[in-house]
Amino acid sequence: MDLLEYQGKQLFGKHGLAVSDGKAVTTVDEAVAAANEIGYPVVVKAQVLIGGRGKAGGVKLAANEEEAREHATNILGLDIKGHITRTVWIEHASDIDTEYYASVLLDRSAKKPLVMFSIEGGIEIETVAEESPEKLIRFHVDPLVGLTKEDAVKIATDGKAADDVIDGVADALVALYTVWIEEDASLAEINPLIITPDRQVKALDAKVTLDGNAAFRHPDHADLGDKANADPIEVKAAEEGVVYVKLDGNIGILGNGAGLVMSTLDVVAQHGGEPANFLDAGGGSDAAKVKQAVEIILSNENVKAVLFNIFGGITRCDEVANGLIAAFGDLKPTVPFVVRLDGTNDVQGREILENAALPNVFAAKTMDEAAEKVTALAKENS
Ligand code: GDP
Ligand code: MN
Repeated sequence: MDLLEYQGKQLFGKHGLAVSDGKAVTTVDEAVAAANEIGYPVVVKAQVLIGGRGKAGGVKLAANEEEAREHATNILGLDIKGHITRTVWIEHASDIDTEYYASVLLDRSAKKPLVMFSIEGGIEIETVAEESPEKLIRFHVDPLVGLTKEDAVKIATDGKAADDVIDGVADALVALYTVWIEEDASLAEINPLIITPDRQVKALDAKVTLDGNAAFRHPDHADLGDKANADPIEVKAAEEGVVYVKLDGNIGILGNGAGLVMSTLDVVAQHGGEPANFLDAGGGSDAAKVKQAVEIILSNENVKAVLFNIFGGITRCDEVANGLIAAFGDLKPTVPFVVRLDGTNDVQGREILENAALPNVFAAKTMDEAAEKVTALAKENS
């Protein structure tokens, strides 16, 4: 889960990184009130899950109430690369002497946390990595030991941070690593990490991704993320514990097991079809869960045909067939379904479906046949 800047900054502050206090607001009047309370100059910042807000006009300094109103008016509703700004963060503006860069992420090939640091901050780090790789320090951390202050001082020194801020930068790196570990983040990035004219080290921006697999350890994370811009179908699916990702096409997909669902997407695409979603009903899907999944798939109005691709292992095909029948009874779908049942109790499953004689349901024996059929039906129905 990606966090908005101000949410990331709250986690930073919790672990001792210096950030500016501020307020997240959703209307112009609230923005002006917040700016008046915080005291000028303030910075008005679009809260969207995309970088490069500054260049897109989503980060503006305001010296007085009039400017705060003007910037909040322009930024609320602003479209930044397809992300509509619904929240702005107002904080007291910082004076900047220098902009550095710092991040912690997981290096999967090294199987270790990776700390990155550069004195070339404020610009995209990919550009630094490409044009002056010697200015990007990469330091692998032994996860059993963690990032020590000594390590952090070495990183700051190797990165040629100014002598008088080596200690402050090192403290910031240790704090950032603590955020990464304690909050179960997969990415914690600060760009820019600023040095103020009075030599304070401060996080001016925050990019944090939390590892959803650790959500059970962090009930306090439940309210985070970009709720206002989340896809309502994905939110509903997540609440019901269904693994669902919305896609751009018109063929609803249900399978059991992530690998099977991914190959189903591929096979449908090979036949010229465009999947409308990824949905993994999981192992051992019972009738109730199948019905729930159908409801989620059909709540996407782009869906013109649905493909059920079930390989029964733990999941029993007769249970899936009964789930589909229950779903049809309640939901009365108007789009055709293609169903491929294979594996545990597949013969019974197909028999149940045949006896139920659901309108607009087609059985297929193989995945290829199913993909071809559903692609043709989606085209007919569009
Ligand atoms: P991004 O463009 O999405 O990465 O947004 P940032 O939060 O990194 O802000 C972009 C740039 O705006 C920064 O690199 C700064 O140069 C500038 N900026 C942001 N906040 C302040 C501030 O408090 N004071 C000053 N002087 N500049 C700021
Ligand atoms: Mn930034």
